[in-house]
Amino acid sequence: MTRVLVVEDDHQLVRALRINLQARKFEVEEAADGGAALRSIVARKPDVILLDLGLPDMDGVDVIKSVRGWSRVPILVLSARHTSEEKIRALDAGADDYVTKPFSMDELLARLRAATRRQEEPVRSDAPPLITTDDFTIDLVAKKVLRGNRPVRLTPTEWHLLEILTAAPGHLVSQRRLLLEVWGPTYAEHTNYLRVYMAQLRRKLEPDPSRPRYLITEPGMGYRFELSPGPAVPG
Ligand code: CA
Repeated sequence: MTRVLVVEDDHQLVRALRINLQARKFEVEEAADGGAALRSIVARKPDVILLDLGLPDMDGVDVIKSVRGWSRVPILVLSARHTSEEKIRALDAGADDYVTKPFSMDELLARLRAATRRQEEPVRSDAPPLITTDDFTIDLVAKKVLRGNRPVRLTPTEWHLLEILTAAPGHLVSQRRLLLEVWGPTYAEHTNYLRVYMAQLRRKLEPDPSRPRYLITEPGMGYRFELSPGPAVPG
């Protein structure tokens, strides 16, 4: 049974979520503020977290940052705030997805399923286990990235993107395929997601994120992972 932690101070919404989630066989935990959420995550180890950004005691983004210090549990953000800046802050901090209130329960459940599925997916077995470049090493089996001797932490969504791109070095992977595989059919047109996540991956992996050598954009088409990079090109 998938255990969901609902972090939300709007009691009516919590009640609606609990009824709908339990009807779909989710086990539901609740936390009404950030402090209770962090305690519950440590003690109960939920499989996925639904997190409101506007909490009474702290900013939801700070909850994400704190959790990402020690856990890669999928985090789906619920927020009434819908500026792209807010969304990017949450994604940058390590959220996996984002739903703006008011949302339809069906959409929320679809994203929740996608987030937990991403977490469970095994690495494809035909992928080379170790990818080594001049700047970083990716261990696809251990799910570790080293830059020099320093480990780089990736979110589950960043991993998923990187796994797809590195499966066929040098080959163009279309925006649509990445969106379908990583976020699902509802998101096939959400190319802004790709821009946000590719920017995050470049910040974590590229020696100069503004002139990527490994994670290459093919404008209007998709992305390519270059194992033997040529000269840097503007991203
Ligand atoms: Ca709130």
